[in-house]
Amino acid sequence: MPDTDGRRKRGNAWTLGKSHERGDLILIRCGHCNIKRWYEPSDLIRLFGDVDIELIDGHMLCEKCRNKEFVRAEARHLTAMERVGIRVRRLAEIRVVRRVVWKDEE
Ligand SMILES: [Zn+2]
Repeated sequence: MPDTDGRRKRGNAWTLGKSHERGDLILIRCGHCNIKRWYEPSDLIRLFGDVDIELIDGHMLCEKCRNKEFVRAEARHLTAMERVGIRVRRLAEIRVVRRVVWKDEE
């Protein structure tokens, strides 16, 4: 098996589902804030569906700067040793916001 750890498979779709099967974590970085966060692929599948990991780039909001454009995602397969000390950000809930819109009668 070719070693693709820590690197994206260019031109060859690598999906969240494949990462989930392999036991990867997804590293999401904001290039603006230089913040790194780790996610479970299964949580991201709930948000994005089983998409190519590259498609997450620019689609996840950085919780610090509230920007999307500097956000990059990559799959990482970590050894048990590497996982020690890593805090994975889990999906707590998906909130659907209900907004009321009023309109004057014509
Ligand atoms: Zn940011």
